[in-house]
Amino acid sequence: MRTIAAWPLDGTPPPDVPAEFHDACARVGRDLRHLPAGDRLPAGVRWELSEDHYSGFLLGLGSDRGMLFTQDTDPYLPPGPLTAYVAERVQDHLTGHEFVQWPACPGHTHPLVAAAAGAQAWWHCRRSGDLLVRIGELATGRRDPRGVSGTA
Ligand SMILES: [Zn+2]
Repeated sequence: MRTIAAWPLDGTPPPDVPAEFHDACARVGRDLRHLPAGDRLPAGVRWELSEDHYSGFLLGLGSDRGMLFTQDTDPYLPPGPLTAYVAERVQDHLTGHEFVQWPACPGHTHPLVAAAAGAQAWWHCRRSGDLLVRIGELATGRRDPRGVSGTA
């Protein structure tokens, strides 16, 4: 396994990171600023990309205490599914290993679920099915202009 790069959660990746990863990581990284009150990420958390002869690209999070997780990630997925995939992997890690529920559904006690809708990736409420906010825009809280259920 060859390490390609490490970069800040909401920073610009170094040039040797495939362009397809840039937007997905920036969006998920921006949303990681919005953890539930009292929760925090491990110190020094950052993106880490490596390359493996068999699996291809491995994308995950590193920290001051070492690698948190890494997962084979196909940069040639369409942008929506790629962003949703990265968000879901990060969410799985936070839930299972850091005991952080992120991101919180504004209307319920469960976390939002990542889903692609066309070329975009959204956080949606698994109870109502509503697409609540685009991944990467948690702070703005912009809603799906269609405002309908079941489009994911
Ligand atoms: Zn909900």
